[in-house]
Amino acid sequence: MVAFTRLYSLRKPFILCVTTGFLWTKLNNDSDIDQEKLKLTVNQADLICQGFKEKQGIPGVSIGVTMHGSLVWKKGYGLADIEQRVPCTPDTVMRIASISKAFTTTLAAQFVEKGKLNWDDTIDKHHPDLPKFVYEKLPVSITIRQLASHTSGVRHYWKKGEPETDDEFNLPEYYITRSYSTVAESLSIFLNDELLHQPGTSWLYTTHGYTLLSAILERISNDKRTFVQLIEDLVIKQLDLHHTKLEYPDEIVSNRSRYYCRRSLKEGLRHVTYVDLSYKWAGGGMLSNINDLLIFANTLLQCRQTKSIDSQLTKQLLKAETIREMWSPIVATKKKNTFYGLGWMITKEQSSSINEFTIPSHIYHTGGAVGATSILLIIPCSKNCSNPRCGICIAILTNLQSARDIYQTALDIALLFRQISPCSSHSNL
Ligand SMILES: [Zn+2]
Repeated sequence: MVAFTRLYSLRKPFILCVTTGFLWTKLNNDSDIDQEKLKLTVNQADLICQGFKEKQGIPGVSIGVTMHGSLVWKKGYGLADIEQRVPCTPDTVMRIASISKAFTTTLAAQFVEKGKLNWDDTIDKHHPDLPKFVYEKLPVSITIRQLASHTSGVRHYWKKGEPETDDEFNLPEYYITRSYSTVAESLSIFLNDELLHQPGTSWLYTTHGYTLLSAILERISNDKRTFVQLIEDLVIKQLDLHHTKLEYPDEIVSNRSRYYCRRSLKEGLRHVTYVDLSYKWAGGGMLSNINDLLIFANTLLQCRQTKSIDSQLTKQLLKAETIREMWSPIVATKKKNTFYGLGWMITKEQSSSINEFTIPSHIYHTGGAVGATSILLIIPCSKNCSNPRCGICIAILTNLQSARDIYQTALDIALLFRQISPCSSHSNL
């Protein structure tokens, strides 16, 4: 079923990145999009999502898609709580895991725009109390950009001396149950460990690097606000995200899902073990739902594509050039044609191996938490058209640990909607 959701209707389409919150808009008029094509596309997307849920054995899936800043489809599948038979809906709140990193760099980017921080500052400039990091017994400097792009050499959950594993969910640091009352406290987990490579020379994905980044941001704010307060004040409240928060295990959260895992597809579902995410709030400790994630994605997309000359924005969350820098490749990841920027993955335009289809450049982040797998993916306009909202955004949340194929599912569905996008630049698909 097609679900056009309009929280507000606006005559002028440009007033979006305002501090009063994101306003969903309808497509300009019904002629912008063929309603029959939209219905067919939703049906196709529905089949893909059902197939994803069934093949991966996922208890609950929540999905939403926006086109040109309009929420054109949202749906929940299955159950948020198997025992209580609670349906999973588009309002279901789940762990978003590493998508949290995009929120953290949004906070850092605000400090950059205020002149309090440069991406290439060394961390000791802002936090001189930190011990000197060492690589091969020699002291080295780490920059903010290196922390945010996973090129610092700070370790992830694996540390020297532990058995190596292909599945990071085997690593003990995924299952920390201690509650850390401050970011500074949680630094003790990794702060005195030697770097695993020279800063700036390689890519090593690290959630601990983001915890360190959040400690720097606390110092930069210089007003005693904690990272939790900063991200709430400067990102979550700015965007009116009512269902996005740092996870506190004992807090009562409306529509919060239960979380599940399975050892193999042949085995039954189990509850995941208890964890406390306070050791990694900045890199993997947030809760959200698809509506809030799509507001976040659309805000960045529209700020990025707004030309100041025609803008009627009262206040942008970030400047276009700031987001352009965040979405620019810094380092190649292990995935073909995919790079890491500042809190985001970037895949460049490429030809599909299956046919002559061109897969457009897109920006995304996946998340893998204890009991949850997620993705937020953005396909910007590829032709610099006049509509700053032009593009497709998709969010998928699941309450299953290690659900595979979520990236391909999101991309396949986003490309389906892109084919019927009103932007003329997509008509060659
Ligand atoms: Zn366009």
